[in-house]
Amino acid sequence: MISCSAQSIEPQPTAGPPKTNAEPSRTAPKPAITQSHGVEFYRQNIGDITKNDNTISHGSIVSAKPQGYVISKSFFPAVAQNFRQRYLILHYTALDEEKSVRVLTQQAVSSHYLVNNLGDREIYQLVDENKRAYHAGVSAWRNDKNLNDTSIGIEIVNTGYILDSVGKKVFSPYDESQIKKVAALVKDIVERYQIPPVNILAHSDIAPTRKQDPGPMFPWKKLYDEYNIGMWYDEEMKQKFMNETTNESFAFEQNSIPFITKVQNGLKKFGYDIVPTGVWNRENLKVVEAFQYRFRPEIYDGVVDRETWAILQALNQKYP
Ligand SMILES: [Zn+2]
Repeated sequence: MISCSAQSIEPQPTAGPPKTNAEPSRTAPKPAITQSHGVEFYRQNIGDITKNDNTISHGSIVSAKPQGYVISKSFFPAVAQNFRQRYLILHYTALDEEKSVRVLTQQAVSSHYLVNNLGDREIYQLVDENKRAYHAGVSAWRNDKNLNDTSIGIEIVNTGYILDSVGKKVFSPYDESQIKKVAALVKDIVERYQIPPVNILAHSDIAPTRKQDPGPMFPWKKLYDEYNIGMWYDEEMKQKFMNETTNESFAFEQNSIPFITKVQNGLKKFGYDIVPTGVWNRENLKVVEAFQYRFRPEIYDGVVDRETWAILQALNQKYP
C-alpha cells in the first residue's frame, strides 16, 4: 500500500490500491521545467486549488543529488502541495540603516527582506524565501503559532519610538519612498503565494505583549486604499456600530464584566492571542494598544473606547 498521507494513520480495512484518480495526473499536461545557471525552475502554476489552500505555485526546484542515482521529474509535480509561506509579517528595525544590516545579517535575528530608508531603488534580501528567517519569535494568530515557520518577514528601517516626558511612546514617521518600496514588495510576495489580507500582519499583532512594530506611524490605511494590501474596516459599518451606543450608554457599561468579556472575545475572534476573563489585565491592554496601532492610530492608550469597539466590530463583520 503506497498511501501514506497524514490522514490515514489507521490501517485501511480493505487492501488493494486506493480508488483515486491518481492515473490522470500521469497524463495531464505538465508545466515546463527550465534550466538557468544549473538551477531548475517552473514558471507555470503547478498547484490544484481543489487540493490546496494556497496554490499559485512557481519558482525554483530544490532536489537531492544521491550518488549513483538519478532524481527523475517524470511525475513532477504532484497536485497536492502548497506553500509554507502563508503569512506576511511587517516590522521596524528600531535601528538606523547600518546597524539594521549588521544585526539582521550577523546576529541571531534575521528577516527575508530589509527595506532601507535611503530613497534608492534597492531592497535587500537577507534570507531565501523558502527558508525560515528568525523575525517573529514567540507568536500567535488565530489558530497558528510560531509564525516564523509559515511567514515571510519584512523589516523596515525606522528608529521606532522614544518616551516623552509623561511616558507616552512617540513614534518616528516613515518616509514616502520607503512606503512605496514596502508596497511594491508586499504586492509581489502576496500575489506569488496567494497570501490573504487577513494574514498580512504587524509584528505587534502576533506578539502584542512584547512588540510595538511597525507602530502607529505605519500607514496601513494608505496601503489598503492605494494598493489593496491588508485589512481595513468600512467606514459605514463602523458608523453603524458607533450608532448602537451613545457616550453615556457606553460609559455606563464600559467596565462591566459582560462588556469586557464581549470585547475580549471580539479581539480573540479577530485573531489576537487573548483569554477572555471579564477583567482587563496588563497583557490585555497591550493587545488593545496593538489593535489601536493598527486600526486607530490617532489614540493608542490601550483603552477600549466607543470608537475602538466600533472598529473592532466592523472588522469582525468584514473579516469573519
Ligand atoms: Zn519586529
